[in-house]
Amino acid sequence: MRYISTRGNSPPQRFREILLAGLAPDGGLYLPEKYPHVSADELSQWRGLSYPALAFRVLEKFIDDIPAADLKQLIDRTYTAAVYCNARSGENAAEIAPLRTLAPGLHLLELSNGPTLAFKDMAMQLLGNLFEYVLSQEKSDLNILGATSGDTGSSAEYAMRGKQGIRVFMLSPLGKMSRFQTAQMFSLADPNIFNLAVQGVFDDCQDIVKAVSNDHAFKKKYRIGTVNSINWARIVAQVVYYFKGYFAATHSNDERVDFSVPSGNFGNICAGHIARMIGLPIRKLILATNENDVLDEFFKCGIYRPRGTAQTFQTSSPSMDISKASNFERFVFDLVGRESATIRELWGRIDSGGAFDLSRMGHFAHIADYGFVSGTSCHADRLATIRSVWDRFGVMVDTHTADGIKVGLENSTSGIPLICLETALPIKFEDTIREALQREPERPGAMDGLEDLPQRFAVMPVDAQAVKDYIAARAG
Ligand SMILES: *Cc1c(COP(=O)(O)O)cnc(C)c1O
Repeated sequence: MRYISTRGNSPPQRFREILLAGLAPDGGLYLPEKYPHVSADELSQWRGLSYPALAFRVLEKFIDDIPAADLKQLIDRTYTAAVYCNARSGENAAEIAPLRTLAPGLHLLELSNGPTLAFKDMAMQLLGNLFEYVLSQEKSDLNILGATSGDTGSSAEYAMRGKQGIRVFMLSPLGKMSRFQTAQMFSLADPNIFNLAVQGVFDDCQDIVKAVSNDHAFKKKYRIGTVNSINWARIVAQVVYYFKGYFAATHSNDERVDFSVPSGNFGNICAGHIARMIGLPIRKLILATNENDVLDEFFKCGIYRPRGTAQTFQTSSPSMDISKASNFERFVFDLVGRESATIRELWGRIDSGGAFDLSRMGHFAHIADYGFVSGTSCHADRLATIRSVWDRFGVMVDTHTADGIKVGLENSTSGIPLICLETALPIKFEDTIREALQREPERPGAMDGLEDLPQRFAVMPVDAQAVKDYIAARAG
């Protein structure tokens, strides 16, 4: 399996070569040169496999430069109840990514039972084990630099804590994360985890990461890497749970299902697109946005118009507050028939602050073939959905999951199972839960007393040089 860049001007690479990389050298994103195919026979055999067994069968289609026995071992070590079943008790407590049926034909795929209670753990934990494996073979080390508004940073830290050869330097806006998210990150005592609380907003953190990454000499000297959502290994690990959800919601492989996905950077739903491309019988991929509706505008009218950070709203589903969707280029590459010259032209406009309109280029006529539909959800919708899911089914959902359920129900058809992806647990966004339900969010037992643990972080000014100095003093 070789991976090519969407922009067509970088040499093809194997999986291990792109594992630690971010963007391709030409600025594009990596995708398989050709999608593998899952045959009807394979689909039948896969039904009924355990999560780790299924993950191995899916991932070996994309990864052929790690020996199968090693890959299997890394997967088995990752997808265990000890890692993924922190948040549950009762009957199916030991199942990974269990499907909860709310009503006939309406399901919730629970992806948030991992260590940080957000779906990002599903891929990030595997990434931690893959990084450690490859770095130890190459006798190398890596300093991961990132910016977070909450979910990504904690997921990365819990995946990398205690890993040989890896340090994490995570920037977050001082005082801007929820109390729970802050406690999750800042209470980690592992010596390879460094929390930098920046005296600014999230965009300041992101600008510092960009400035440090653009200092190529520094980046090389200190072996700076990232784990952001464009990382291919994260996408491919997410493909697995679409299969898991499909098998759990259906009785035979003749059935088709719809998935509803609360979307920000288009990473989660990009995995759904890939699952569909390789042969999973998905009818619709329902993309839900919050007030930041750049992707809804595209799927409705073919116009992609990133908003710029000044026009990005801060909402009560903050992990979907994006100005541009960093993985979207992957889907458009497929949509335009994999013509990298077209992608170069379109993203030439995006990268210089512009927009593009595919409706006038003919390609948009094919959009229906890819199954995408979309919708938006606002704060009032979110509150109403959290309330109605609680009242009707006795289930408490978080704000992002509520966006997905709202838009999913608007686009569902009776007779086709609707699988809504649960992307976080309510405790992470407690203020909005209180506003919606006038009660405290449920707290998984494993998280008792989290906010009372001692916290460890360094306060940083909005200054890239100060961050570089901090890293240089600790990067080994
Ligand atoms: C990251 C995140 C999302 C958005 O996922 P993308 O892959 O960026 O589209 C949605 N909900 C929650 C809770 C998240 O943490």
